[in-house]
Amino acid sequence: MKPIIKGKGDQYSQEIIELRRHFHQNPELSGEEYETSKKVQEKLKEYGIPYSTGYAKTGVLGVIDGGRPGKTVALRADMDALPITEENEDSYISKVKGKMHACGHDAHTSMLLGTARILNEVKETLPGKILLVFQPSEEITPIGGAEPMMKDGVFKEHTPDVIFGQHVWPDLPVGQIGVLPGPFMGASDRFKVEIEGAGGHASMPHQTVDAIIIANAVITNLQTIVSRNVNPIDSTVLTIGRIEGGCRYNVIADKVTFEGTIRTYKTETKQMVKDRFYSIVQGVTESMGAKANIEYYDGYPATVNDPEWAKRVKQTSEVVLGEDSTPRVDPCLGGEDFSRFLLKYPGAYFWLGTGLPGVEKQKPLHDPKFKLDERAIPIGMELMAQIAIDTLYQLEEGERCDNEKLYSIGN
Ligand code: ZN
Repeated sequence: MKPIIKGKGDQYSQEIIELRRHFHQNPELSGEEYETSKKVQEKLKEYGIPYSTGYAKTGVLGVIDGGRPGKTVALRADMDALPITEENEDSYISKVKGKMHACGHDAHTSMLLGTARILNEVKETLPGKILLVFQPSEEITPIGGAEPMMKDGVFKEHTPDVIFGQHVWPDLPVGQIGVLPGPFMGASDRFKVEIEGAGGHASMPHQTVDAIIIANAVITNLQTIVSRNVNPIDSTVLTIGRIEGGCRYNVIADKVTFEGTIRTYKTETKQMVKDRFYSIVQGVTESMGAKANIEYYDGYPATVNDPEWAKRVKQTSEVVLGEDSTPRVDPCLGGEDFSRFLLKYPGAYFWLGTGLPGVEKQKPLHDPKFKLDERAIPIGMELMAQIAIDTLYQLEEGERCDNEKLYSIGN
């Protein structure tokens, strides 16, 4: 009989919120999640869930074996914090200056432990396996933690048939979920350009190659990529976030450097924008007699949800949280390392509403004052558990997402 675990989230809510506060007070940066990883292992041991570790150094894989054979569903949580000094005033703010869980990964890790506990209790009824993937280094694009974990063989023994990931989302209220089929989060590339001209006296421009004028022309022309080359239906962003050049009002600058980021949804758009970027920077610079040194870093690819599994998330949410729990959302151009898992395995990534009540303008992720409503924690753990259960049953039935059928099994 298929288990319905409604209410289980509340049962463990206090413990998991305490755990979340513990992680929040003791944040660790990407690649340094040693204590976090240890705590995850300690908890899995306490719950009686076998695990292995050492994937991308601190990554942990817990395995819950169901009572009968079946498919394999992976659930992923990221563990790392950001190099930000927290500016909140709660009793459990970060104890470490310059480090903060400003992206909610403390909640992701603790919620997945809660989910693990719930699933482990009903494992005898499950047709298949659940993989609990605790991932480090989500915040260091382009390397990330997903790819290194896979290289270290996290899925060597057990291969996921489907994988799910969730992220706290301040723009949705508690009790609501954001999910879409297809592209959901953007590809995020980064670049740095140095324009090398020839400096000189401000009154004798004919003896120089003015790097500031050239940078100006390059930047203006780069803005035509999005406005003139990209299909307007296909969202893209090209932002230059930093520029530096020159030293004095009466000296013509010999060098200008600028840095920025390119965000796209589709692989073909990303490649086209990258190609146009190179030809504009090189073409304009050369035509004006200077030299361009380009550093281009391919970041995380776009997070593209499999329509079937995005639908699974939506339908399970509607049963667990109510018909109106999945409002229409727009995709977001933020980058996400989970995309690398989705390149290899079908699955879906979704947002868990954590907006604070009565706050008109929520502090965004990565803000020193970012906060989440902890009432979302039992919801997130319960929802993730039910999604895993529903998916295993759906895979066993070998049928497409059919809610009525799925929910009539255990009721
Ligand atoms: Zn994040």
